[in-house]
Amino acid sequence: MNIAIVGAGITGISTALEFARDGHQVTVYEQMNAAAEDASFAPGGWLLPCATQSLATPGAGMPFKQLKSGAGLTQASSMIGSPVWRWARQWKKHEKNASKHGNNALLTSLSTLSAYSASLRWQDCEDTDIAAERKSGTLIMLRTPQEVAFWNQQLPLLEAQNVACKMLPPPQAQALEPGLGQEITWLNAVYFPDGESINPRLWAQYLRLQAQEMGVAIRTGIQIQSISKQPVGVEITGTLQRHDAVVICTGTNHRLLQNLQLNLPIMPTWGYSVTAPVRDGLQAPRSAIMDWAQQATISRVGQRVRITAGLELGSSAEAPQHTHTLQRMYRLLNDWFPGGAQLSSPQVQVWRGSRGHLPDGLPLTGPSGHHGIWLNLAHGSHGVSLAAGCARAIADMVADRATAIDMQAFHPLRF
Ligand SMILES: Cc1cc2nc3c(=O)[nH]c(=O)nc-3n(C[C@H](O)[C@H](O)[C@H](O)COP(=O)(O)OP(=O)(O)OC[C@H]3O[C@@H](n4cnc5c(N)ncnc54)[C@H](O)[C@@H]3O)c2cc1C
Repeated sequence: MNIAIVGAGITGISTALEFARDGHQVTVYEQMNAAAEDASFAPGGWLLPCATQSLATPGAGMPFKQLKSGAGLTQASSMIGSPVWRWARQWKKHEKNASKHGNNALLTSLSTLSAYSASLRWQDCEDTDIAAERKSGTLIMLRTPQEVAFWNQQLPLLEAQNVACKMLPPPQAQALEPGLGQEITWLNAVYFPDGESINPRLWAQYLRLQAQEMGVAIRTGIQIQSISKQPVGVEITGTLQRHDAVVICTGTNHRLLQNLQLNLPIMPTWGYSVTAPVRDGLQAPRSAIMDWAQQATISRVGQRVRITAGLELGSSAEAPQHTHTLQRMYRLLNDWFPGGAQLSSPQVQVWRGSRGHLPDGLPLTGPSGHHGIWLNLAHGSHGVSLAAGCARAIADMVADRATAIDMQAFHPLRF
């Protein structure tokens, strides 16, 4: 088949690679001048062993109320009736259901997809350190008895999903991350031995090279104006480019869906990363930690240290940077790993990016309802983690093969 992929972030590139592995002819269209320039540019690169990031999935990550009260959530126009209000109401309804039934179906779906992705991620990659600056073992740092109680409830649920995890007292956590500061107070850490963190952009570029070697054409600087249903294809400056199938991998950007009369509740949430050179390797993180109360991740990215935080619900690309969040991030990095990063270096990189969240925290991966048109977007806080699994599943669906895991929970027409 002759397949078009729209979008060259980690999702689009991973999807193109899977189609190439199946022997299809693939063209990727990307509006920017290179791959991984949008949400996949400098996110955390924390690879899920479970749902932990901000707005992970309702009932599994930090409760919405708590996010609002202290973990850095800022909301644009949450007035009654506004899109943000409607979206938050649906999210909270899912949270309520999860706590009522004690069996969080959303978490189960996400964990299954996450484990599937992990099983595929490193295929054909000989040196993951060079290809992706991969580090293993992640810690979630807990500061209060309430956080410890929350995680003591989560651990059996995760163990039931075969996620390896355990609560560690400070000396054991400190042995894993010797650079942790002595001044900051915390009670315990949850350890995920199979948790990983990577440099997402480097990984996307590595996959892009692999895809190109397999014959995938990557056409950058081309914006797709609309998707044609009959005949199937993409429209570029008024000209139709025909394909047998089109897969929309445009991340948060859902303009092309409106074109297809698909009105899905994708909410953009904006966040930040600050990446600084390592100052002293012994004081920098070895792998990755998450400050649960602050919903911030700190990870080692080669010879750099990266912190991510911030959750601006319903904001826009044009909004000014939230100075308070950035100041909080510099402070947190210094508190957790004092002397680990050169925060005054001119090489410090500050980045703001957006995640596309559905109210159930799960991506849109599957058929669009229009023959030959497929969706693989809106991966919320987990796009890097889920890319490999979603890509393989879409390739199987397009080939009319059974998928290795049940993908019903991610069906785009579930709303
Ligand atoms: C602060 C922050 C921290 C994060 N941390 C993590 C983390 O630790 N772990 C994790 O797994 N995920 C994390 N994420 C989420 C992750 O970054 C995203 O889910 C992932 O990068 C999405 O990849 P994508 O390819 O779907 O989207 P993108 O990377 O945004 O790619 C979509 C591409 O489509 C292109 N495009 C859009 N419209 C068109 C068009 N009409 N024509 C042509 N091209 C088009 C865009 O230019 C873009 O390049 C984080 C996100 C943020 C903001």
